[in-house]
Amino acid sequence: MIEREQIEMDVVFVGAGPANLAAALHLKNEIARHDELIDMGVKHGKKIGEIEIAIVEKGAFVGAHILSGAVMDPIAIRELMPDFLEQGCPVDTVVTEDAAWYLTKGKMINAPIVPPPLKNKGKYILSLSKMCEWLGEKCEEAGVNIFPEFPASEVLYDENDRVIGIRTGDKGIDKEGKPKANFEPGVDILAKVTVLGEGSRGSLAKQLMSRLGLMEGKEPQVFSLGVKELWEVPEGNFPEGKVVHTLGFPSDVQTYGGGWIYGLKNNVVSIGYVTGLDYVDPNIDPHAEFQKFKSHPAVAEVLNGGKMIKYGAKTINAGGYWTMPRLYADGVLLVGDSASFLNGQRIKGIHTAMKSGMLAAETIVSALEHNDFSAASLSHYEERVDMSWIYDELHAVRNFHASFQKGRWSALVNSGLQYLTKGLAWGFMPKEHHVAGHERMAMQREVNGRKNGKAADGLNGMGPTEHLRTERYDEVKFDKELTFDKITDVFHAGVSHDEDQPSHLHILDTEICATRCAEEYGNPCQRFCPAAVYEMEENAATGRREIKVNFSNCVHCKTCDISDPYQIINWVTPEGGGGPNYKGM
Ligand SMILES: Cc1cc2nc3c(=O)[nH]c(=O)nc-3n(C[C@H](O)[C@H](O)[C@H](O)COP(=O)(O)OP(=O)(O)OC[C@H]3O[C@@H](n4cnc5c(N)ncnc54)[C@H](O)[C@@H]3O)c2cc1C
Repeated sequence: MIEREQIEMDVVFVGAGPANLAAALHLKNEIARHDELIDMGVKHGKKIGEIEIAIVEKGAFVGAHILSGAVMDPIAIRELMPDFLEQGCPVDTVVTEDAAWYLTKGKMINAPIVPPPLKNKGKYILSLSKMCEWLGEKCEEAGVNIFPEFPASEVLYDENDRVIGIRTGDKGIDKEGKPKANFEPGVDILAKVTVLGEGSRGSLAKQLMSRLGLMEGKEPQVFSLGVKELWEVPEGNFPEGKVVHTLGFPSDVQTYGGGWIYGLKNNVVSIGYVTGLDYVDPNIDPHAEFQKFKSHPAVAEVLNGGKMIKYGAKTINAGGYWTMPRLYADGVLLVGDSASFLNGQRIKGIHTAMKSGMLAAETIVSALEHNDFSAASLSHYEERVDMSWIYDELHAVRNFHASFQKGRWSALVNSGLQYLTKGLAWGFMPKEHHVAGHERMAMQREVNGRKNGKAADGLNGMGPTEHLRTERYDEVKFDKELTFDKITDVFHAGVSHDEDQPSHLHILDTEICATRCAEEYGNPCQRFCPAAVYEMEENAATGRREIKVNFSNCVHCKTCDISDPYQIINWVTPEGGGGPNYKGM
């Protein structure tokens, strides 16, 4: 039995993303305001006084694991800190020009009218990683304790399933699971309220939702994967402040997808491609889709003569309003992407994540005043959300993503109708509404059958990179100038994990990988993972191809946990500090 230190806090936040950083700072400010109003006799009630707040973050520093586009709608940060620019918020530049490109294989059609949800003029282009680093400093100045390199590995419950805090991961365990000389047991951080803001597919949020039934009566979450590179391009290739969103090539009409190109200062370009992880064809490889996107003449022209400087990939929770879990339970609240606050139509979640954190903070102030952290007390958070602009924004686009599950054309018609009717138009909506992505993936024989009119033998037996030779990606050269293979890209994500630790990617039944999955889906993990973590390798002893997990490549995007068709991959937190280094991304 390991003896663990217990640390008592009033509030513990899991994850130092925009949601929790805004929450912690707002909590400090709101408590100060509450107490001051009582002192002034303007407000009746009990003073709260000094409280202990902790934020635990699995990355080596605040911002290390933060990846976004990013164009930020400043509505939330203005509420948090009206003088955010004067206080030094590191926005890169202001959006001066919007464009929407429809791409066919060789042509680009510049839309004469940019669809209103994609209009960003006046908003800010920034590195969200930089902004989180800065917000982290603001939190520390306000007295919040931030613990980087501390992944929360477990939620702690009391005997009545009330959340009482979290346990951080052990350090110094070798790959056989034995303690090394530097072994340090994780600590138990006990708190009156625990706030989960782990981003998309939070590993604790997943445990919590399942244990407490927080998704009962809700639709399953659907995800996309965003693959991004930062480039330095020659002067004149792409103007600072320009924002382009694309539709069409290379996605097929059944697959949700689109690209972005944002012009930052100093001829830096943020470029990326989003692929819906509810795709049907198991041969889709979101990383290769992005590489193919860059080879389109209109896109290649932007990058021509430039140099890729950074890479990253991260999932996006795309379901929105219908796929929101219950946001509270005894002792716990869910904020940001972990709670499905992203607006899929605008591909924006920074402002909604921050606002959700601020509403959670206001709920916690009231809970602290009344010393009541029960589900009933914390349920006011959901009421606050429903009364805020978040509800107006997300409810109006509640049918956006599901309409894409019927294909691009019906989705475009639907999106237009939904925009005009604030989501009332149901037109071509699939009856089931959102269907979980892994349930939509077809087997190889169905795909090949559809293509050739006959059953084919699937992709069983493909090597780790041979999948890139499937006809879908035949034209992508991976020339290391414009297009990069996964290993080269992963190098540019600055990923590192101590190799002598247990894999944090738990495959619950590897026999399925070698048999059923190889046969039925051709081991799609080799393709959907954007970091070349999964390989099918010949086992000399058995003579069959078995799964090999290169966990040290992992960029913490969580795609495997989401997209595996048998749902047998469980992503858990690795040793603290491991993972990508997205500084400046
Ligand atoms: C490719 C891409 C492009 C995007 N573009 C835009 C855009 O242009 N504009 C926009 O508004 N939004 C955009 N978004 C969405 C936006 O980035 C998110 O909505 C927003 O970052 C969500 O904030 P969050 O705080 O909920 O989570 P995150 O930003 O994901 O932060 C979560 C933090 O929690 C940490 N964490 C997770 N689990 C644990 C754990 N168990 N223990 C300790 N720490 C943990 C993570 O390391 C991370 O630091 C984009 C997203 C992606 C992926």
